[in-house]
Amino acid sequence: MKIGVIGGGQLGRMLALAGTPLGMNFAFLDPAPDACAAALGEHLRADYDDKDHLRRLADEVDLVTFEFESVPAETVAYLAHFVPVYPSAESLRIARDRWFEKSMFKDLGIPTPEFADIHSQADLDAAVAAIGLPAVLKTRTLGYDGKGQKVLRAAADVAGAFAELGSVPCILEGFVPFTGEVSLVAVRGRDGETRFYPLVHNTHVDGILRLSVASQAHPLQALAEDYVGRVLEKLDYVGVLAFEFFEVDGGLKANEIAPRVHNSGHWTIEGSECSQFENHLRAVAGLPLGSTAKVGESAMLNFIGAVPAVEQVIAIDDCHLHHYGKAFKVGRKVGHATLRSQDLATLKAQIAKVEALIEG
Ligand code: AMP
Repeated sequence: MKIGVIGGGQLGRMLALAGTPLGMNFAFLDPAPDACAAALGEHLRADYDDKDHLRRLADEVDLVTFEFESVPAETVAYLAHFVPVYPSAESLRIARDRWFEKSMFKDLGIPTPEFADIHSQADLDAAVAAIGLPAVLKTRTLGYDGKGQKVLRAAADVAGAFAELGSVPCILEGFVPFTGEVSLVAVRGRDGETRFYPLVHNTHVDGILRLSVASQAHPLQALAEDYVGRVLEKLDYVGVLAFEFFEVDGGLKANEIAPRVHNSGHWTIEGSECSQFENHLRAVAGLPLGSTAKVGESAMLNFIGAVPAVEQVIAIDDCHLHHYGKAFKVGRKVGHATLRSQDLATLKAQIAKVEALIEG
């Protein structure tokens, strides 16, 4: 089976690493000459709206999926004329736009921060009067890793904030005084079968994910599964979806969903029976889903900007390095390490060793 992937970054690369043993081949559509997934399959180097190349991709593959959600909706709609595309164009339309996704959460009874649609500075002023400060202004689309957003703490931050984010459609969210951030990665097959990985605790630095720790039986697991299940059913979703939540007042508030494999699920490669990457491929290909059970304790640390010396990383016990082969750049995710152990105390000691390498 040949799978077409829109995007050729590290997520595409890890999809191919998971699918190759299942006998799958891959083609990646990505305009970047140095797309890091290209080492693992065919690289169609073209823009995402290049219809000739989209048609060529559709003719070559059995189905198409994507590894980032900012794919233009027209690209997915065009491809869907010729080849099955999973997740669906509708799932992508909702998940790529913060207004649509938060409105869906509200319709489904999933708690979110208060939010308002913003199309002008006047809208923003009115929303700040209603929601209050502090609040967070975010572009509706294309934001990632803390980009395309601004925390508004005082009246001076509000003045001109709409223009600062580019005068594009935004949402304003009430600031959540969260005690933690967690995410739930789930997979749903073409037949509707759904499985959930354990909740993961996430720590961000400067808006970028730094550390994910897969939790032991978490008291909010069942609640998170209930919320995520509602979204999967509503979208008749196929594939892996990640849902990020704020932990607040002993409950959960929805932050956002990603209609794809997710950074907070990278630990599943070594830390679960069947990784998020393999399960995504199984789901979109109509194959039986794999077990999402954890094997031991796991954590994942991102390497941002640069990967520490390979020999030092892999010298740490049960430390698994994933080097994406990307050019080093400030703020760019260029690799990660998964740590495995049988107990949390050992895991914490391993995390400290990797952190020391990063800081060194
Ligand atoms: P996002 O791109 O929406 O995931 O936001 C990036 C990070 O900013 C989140 O992981 C939080 O740490 C923080 N953040 C986003 N929205 C809010 C909010 N409404 N209240 C408090 N912190 C937030």
